[in-house]
Amino acid sequence: MLKQKYDVIVIGSGPAGLAAAVEAKKTGAEDVLIIERDRELGGILLQCIHNGFGVELLKEDLPGPAYAQRYIEEVHESGVETLLDAMVLDISPSRHIYAISEWSGFAELDARAIVLAMDCRERTRAQIRLRGSRPAGVYTAGTAQRFTNIEGSLPGERIVILGSGDIGMIMARRLTFEGAKVERVLEIMPFLTGLTRNYVQCLLDFDIPLQLRHTVARIIGNRRVEAVEAVQVDEKWQPVEGTREIIPCDTLLLSVGLIPENELSKKAGVLLDPVTNGPFVDQGMQTNVPGIFAAGNVVHVYDLVDWVTEAGFVAGRAAAKYAIAQRKRVARQVKLQAGANVRYVVPHVMDKEALAESDQKLQMRVVSPIEGKVWVQVTDGENQIVRKGQRYARPGEMVTVKIPQKAYDEVQKTDRLTVNVVAR
Ligand SMILES: Cc1cc2nc3c(=O)[nH]c(=O)nc-3n(C[C@H](O)[C@H](O)[C@H](O)COP(=O)(O)OP(=O)(O)OC[C@H]3O[C@@H](n4cnc5c(N)ncnc54)[C@H](O)[C@@H]3O)c2cc1C
Repeated sequence: MLKQKYDVIVIGSGPAGLAAAVEAKKTGAEDVLIIERDRELGGILLQCIHNGFGVELLKEDLPGPAYAQRYIEEVHESGVETLLDAMVLDISPSRHIYAISEWSGFAELDARAIVLAMDCRERTRAQIRLRGSRPAGVYTAGTAQRFTNIEGSLPGERIVILGSGDIGMIMARRLTFEGAKVERVLEIMPFLTGLTRNYVQCLLDFDIPLQLRHTVARIIGNRRVEAVEAVQVDEKWQPVEGTREIIPCDTLLLSVGLIPENELSKKAGVLLDPVTNGPFVDQGMQTNVPGIFAAGNVVHVYDLVDWVTEAGFVAGRAAAKYAIAQRKRVARQVKLQAGANVRYVVPHVMDKEALAESDQKLQMRVVSPIEGKVWVQVTDGENQIVRKGQRYARPGEMVTVKIPQKAYDEVQKTDRLTVNVVAR
């Protein structure tokens, strides 16, 4: 059963979100909820069945799902709540969250602190303006990884990979294991864009050729990819004529970069760094919007999962501290509400400690005029805190009453005061 308000709500259950939730709980947050659009916790790690995860942080070389499982267990043991198969649609700057889920329907939740951990999405063909026909057989490397490792179907048999990012190199090896022939990895930059260890373990060890300063000039094929035209480029990424080569293949995988998934962040008023495309953050991973934190690839693209987890810990700890401070601040406050014949009261809230220093003035407007003797009363629902008499009350004239310093002890016992302006 979902609560209406949580100390910390984490959006996304990859390594960043899992770490943030676990750490928020350890730091003292009472209610922590993870909202995940997938049916399982774990994020992208669930489809990364190769090893290479946890080498730095856990000093173990684990496959992705095993790494995720460590933190999933901690999530369950620590009492973090989870809402799976639920997509967050919107967040307001005041940390109101709108989510939709097949089983629980539309949910509106409030959080004292939010951790954004939504990761990135992969750049597609359109984003790199790849020319040529539009046949089937062009996939992002992550989509091909999902097909191969989760859905159990191979994306193709003769593969060309554009981009030397880690996902592309890992898929080159993975598809080779499954019997596909990876013809070539083409990289437009004069250097490798992924980890050297992946170049050695995924390309060199399997004799998969890598061509730097090369790109795909054109995709060829009608219903299905039949070939790509590869070409060498100069320093300005312009084709070097005389170097064009047709490479027959049935599949082109794109491993051409990731874009942090920040549509939700923008809706909440979070400012993004134009270089990383992720939020500007402070040392606790707090964005410019108070109480909204971010961790993992949604901030910038990490090379190793260990550093993603580490960022999740930092964000979760800071988010919990923020939420706890919020609770304390609210506990110190008393709400001032309009009662009988009162339209509004200003201020709307008062710090109880302010009465230790001076009387506190409340200003208001009445709804209807009262001619003759009038009481302006402030009550805590049961006891009268202060009462002031005056000769009349009219909507056109502001009414004022002071809560005296001597009411300090009584005010400490309540969280709301009501003001009434009534006939004597
Ligand atoms: C193919 C591949 C190979 C890799 N290999 C290695 C390696 O060998 N070693 C290593 O250390 N690292 C590796 N990494 C890097 C590492 O896995 C990632 O950096 C890390 O998983 C990113 O974590 P994250 O929590 O930011 O995102 P993710 O794990 O992607 O989690 C984000 C989660 O947010 C959810 N989400 C997004 N939007 C919403 C929404 N609106 N509502 C609800 N839920 C939402 C998503 O469903 C997802 O579950 C690899 C990554 C990939 C893709």
